[in-house]
Amino acid sequence: MRITRVRATPVAVPYRTDETWAFGRRRGLVALLVEVDTDEGLTGLGEAAAYPSADAVLGALRAMEPLVVGSDPLRIEQLVQRIDVVGTYHHTGCSSPAAAALETACWDLLGKSCGTPVVNLLGGRFRDRVEFFHYVAAAGPDEVRAEGARAARAGARTCYLKVGSDDLDTDLERLAALREGAGRKMGIRVDANEAWSAGAAVQAVAAMEEFGLELVEQPVSGRNLPEMAYVRSRIGTPLLANEASWTRSDQFAVLREGAADVVSADQQMDGGLLNLKRSAGLCAAAGVPVVKHSLGELGVAVAAAVHVIASTPNFRCANQGYGALLTDDIVEGRFAGPLENYTDGCLEVPPEPGLGVRLDAEKVGRYAELYREEGAGFAFHDPAALSRAPALPKR
Ligand SMILES: [Mg+2]
Repeated sequence: MRITRVRATPVAVPYRTDETWAFGRRRGLVALLVEVDTDEGLTGLGEAAAYPSADAVLGALRAMEPLVVGSDPLRIEQLVQRIDVVGTYHHTGCSSPAAAALETACWDLLGKSCGTPVVNLLGGRFRDRVEFFHYVAAAGPDEVRAEGARAARAGARTCYLKVGSDDLDTDLERLAALREGAGRKMGIRVDANEAWSAGAAVQAVAAMEEFGLELVEQPVSGRNLPEMAYVRSRIGTPLLANEASWTRSDQFAVLREGAADVVSADQQMDGGLLNLKRSAGLCAAAGVPVVKHSLGELGVAVAAAVHVIASTPNFRCANQGYGALLTDDIVEGRFAGPLENYTDGCLEVPPEPGLGVRLDAEKVGRYAELYREEGAGFAFHDPAALSRAPALPKR
């Protein structure tokens, strides 16, 4: 089999509610649908996160195309090495989503050509369904309380809340509202996105622990591992690494420094599904659970990750998902984004060959048009946030 063409289509899918973080907000999700055609008539599907922007990833994808057209897509390791080493794209954050989408499409082709779901090529099912957290992006306490109640009604076991605002009381107010709305049993994961100094982190986490926390994600800079280890030693809540652990090399350093209790990994940021599996292996060797991070993904990338997670024992915590935010998707059926497709916060592993997802052509067209018309408005860069330079760490 030979790759004959790579097609990329940027799409923009709106959220129910804006996603906000310390440095901006976005009203929906932009992703690049990647279709890899072959001379045998099979097409492999991949998806690249538009990170840091759709244009940057599209540029990387176009530049990689000559490296993969004419190649055998079933020689996945060889193809990735060609992109990384010959193409010199190794571990550059901007190009990784493009490489990941190409690699994912090759796994889809391999599964389709073998007539088996990708999970069977990665070790088989360790679990039949994969858990995701409920993303609480609502801003004010009343909305947060209502979203917590919605999460509980949907059967979610873990909610995710961004913290690290300028005023700790604002964080505490939202956290209290979430606990009230979601109930006593809900796991609550908070993510400060590196906002705090070590002292501020210790103080903030201590104040938040009264509401019961599952994990605290990246409380301090991910580029100062001894500081992470110090904070970890001073708080009673397990620490989840994220900005510190984008690549396998980063994860290795986090584990070596004892800087986290749980490590997140993301196929978009480290070149694809096989490396996500390898990340889990590194963590397993250190006796540490791993969590799938997401920059915001639609059905193709979510299904791809589900195959890896289902086949890998130490994905023991809820993974990052956007089901609570997405209004729609570009794929058909149960891997389409919105929450209604999740059961108790979980997605089933697709039984069909390859990734097991089918595109909805009408929706691909509709959301490609939305991207063309309003793509800039979907960027994760709030003009108001850009006008004030954030000063980190806080306190
Ligand atoms: Mg994070």
